[in-house]
Amino acid sequence: MKRGFYIGRFQPYHNGHQAVLEHIAGEVDEIIIGVGSAQLSHQVDNPFTAGERVLMITRSLNHLGCPFYVIPIEDIQRNALWVAHVRSMAPPFETCYSSNPLVMQLFQEAGVQVQSPAMYEREILSGTEIRSRMLEGKPWEDLVPPAVVKVIREIGGVSRLRQIARED
Ligand code: ATP
Ligand code: MG
Repeated sequence: MKRGFYIGRFQPYHNGHQAVLEHIAGEVDEIIIGVGSAQLSHQVDNPFTAGERVLMITRSLNHLGCPFYVIPIEDIQRNALWVAHVRSMAPPFETCYSSNPLVMQLFQEAGVQVQSPAMYEREILSGTEIRSRMLEGKPWEDLVPPAVVKVIREIGGVSRLRQIARED
């Protein structure tokens, strides 16, 4: 049983994440998706709760054709212990898929095999870009799977983001 691990903050989950996971699905038997900084929400850079992000991911991947687990992972403020923390929360895995330099370094030091998936249209497929479009009232819906548009509508995500970005 080959399991691959993929981690992000998914604020929000977008088409770049979806493309990477569809690629990973062809290489492993099961995928573990870590929802990082799980404790954060209601911040301009982290507007959505872990539970809301779990919904976005789970609904977007219902036709993936590869079993997957979505595991919220809270931050610990000690990078040297972080991989052990991740392993304590996730089902066992042998490969980590990440292009984040710090994540890659920490897993490599822990002896985990690391693969770097290619980036898809990184200029527009980025959480930062999507959050700034939401704040500016520009179209963002084409950059995320349809299920994510639905979740964000359901929870009033755009008005939440605009409200917490206001000055008092
Ligand atoms: P933010 O701008 O909020 O940091 P992000 O788009 O970088 O959002 P993350 O949740 O930080 O998304 O990223 C999770 C993982 O997804 C990271 O390893 C990141 O490199 C990868 N990733 C992000 N955007 C893309 C993309 N367009 N194509 C492929 N991988 C991506
Ligand atoms: Mg990022």
